[in-house]
Amino acid sequence: MALVVYNLKVEMLREVFVNILEIQDISKIYGTVNALRNITLSVQQGEWAAIMGPSGSGKTTMMNIIGCMDKPTSGSVILDGDDISRLSSEELTGIRRDKIGLVFQQFHLVPYLTALENVMVAQYYHSIIDKEEALQSLERVGLQDRAEHLPRQLSGGEQQRVCIARALINHPKLILADEPTGNLDEANEGIVMDLFRQLHCGGSTIVMVTHDPGVAAHAERTVVLEHGRLARITSNPAKDF
Ligand code: ADP
Ligand code: MG
Repeated sequence: MALVVYNLKVEMLREVFVNILEIQDISKIYGTVNALRNITLSVQQGEWAAIMGPSGSGKTTMMNIIGCMDKPTSGSVILDGDDISRLSSEELTGIRRDKIGLVFQQFHLVPYLTALENVMVAQYYHSIIDKEEALQSLERVGLQDRAEHLPRQLSGGEQQRVCIARALINHPKLILADEPTGNLDEANEGIVMDLFRQLHCGGSTIVMVTHDPGVAAHAERTVVLEHGRLARITSNPAKDF
């Protein structure tokens, strides 16, 4: 009995403390530019981390590497147990499709497709077409009554929520968002941040680039890059997540 309880506890701790992402001493060199220099960073499952830093400090380069769109020049990146720095482009595409949900500053919605169809394009990419599930995904972001609207008939905040619905379609292990509120007014920023908070409460792991300290304050930790180096990591005051 004691052994069963012990094993259960170990299992629960593993669930709580497992690192979904382990970046080990990565550097990225473009010609003569050192975009990233010897970065080491772990992200726990269920964590919300913000990445900040001046323009050109390497934020997008790091997101591209974590998101399996690029590879580091040296060092390793373990994502959910796979060393993605050693994979081929085809393998990276597969990992990205299965494990990553991407949200961009520029929404990248197809302009002549409805909100529902834009979400279903993501399903197509994952080789599933399930209108009911796409509608449920829109419902999760509070847009079930906007399913038949085109992007231009939606506010910026609503468009970003469609993007989040699209990113959630594969139940990603990791949600990566690069300046997701960068194009939104304050009211819409609040709605989108509420949505990320709900996702976080539901157990999602989120890595979010932002210029805005108010946005970063929603995360548990803020990672600051400067000139491609990890300048510091700050823990944000506890939230009632
Ligand atoms: P941030 O997102 O923090 O603004 P980036 O990661 O986009 O910074 O860029 C970091 C540095 O790497 C910059 O000096 C940028 O010019 C350079 N860089 C980024 N991507 C490329 C590329 N594809 N080719 C050459 N240089 C690049
Ligand atoms: Mg950038």
